[in-house]
Amino acid sequence: MRLILMGPPGAGKGTQAKYVADHFGIPAISTGDIFRENVSQGTDLGVEAERYMDAGEYVPDEITNQMVRNRIDKPDAEPGFLLDGYPRTLAQVEELDGMIAHTGHRLDAVVVLTVDSEEVVQRLIQRARTEGRADDTEDVIRRRQEIYLEETEPLIAVYRKRGLVHDINGMGEVDEVTKRIFEALDVIPQS
Ligand code: ADP
Repeated sequence: MRLILMGPPGAGKGTQAKYVADHFGIPAISTGDIFRENVSQGTDLGVEAERYMDAGEYVPDEITNQMVRNRIDKPDAEPGFLLDGYPRTLAQVEELDGMIAHTGHRLDAVVVLTVDSEEVVQRLIQRARTEGRADDTEDVIRRRQEIYLEETEPLIAVYRKRGLVHDINGMGEVDEVTKRIFEALDVIPQS
């Protein structure tokens, strides 16, 4: 099973990614988490990524693509994977197409979590308080929403044309949302 989870920052992708990945026995690959790990370990990649992340900007495609390529090449991703936070640009879509084609598999589904944007901003402000993420100040939150609308939301149309998109209502209790995702994905044939 090769899945993408999409939705605006704060839609609850990270939370759902773990449940969905467990359900299908595949790793959840979060580019945001991998970047944050690298930042906290002070790797070259982390040092490079940090200045973009702190500003709410996207890390350049070449860096992000290479990182995902390395992750997908690991043995645990052989049966499949769920991508959370990737692809976010058209260039990343093309790169991912190449990576998957190279393995002889195909993308099975793109889950799009739909949420109310005001609720999303409130969730992010709440998360900033409890988790203290460096990129969760109000200005940066707004910048991330803006970039999402400009750069990433248009990708949904690309995948919709391919017939891969499942729109899932992301509002409500976490387990209700999880149930909606399972209902949509359990009926699709796995590659
Ligand atoms: P959110 O979805 O809440 O914005 P993430 O944890 O997914 O947070 O990402 C945090 C930051 O990591 C992003 O703001 C961006 O700087 C960087 N990032 C994550 N994924 C990508 C990607 N696919 N392309 C470029 N930058 C990325």
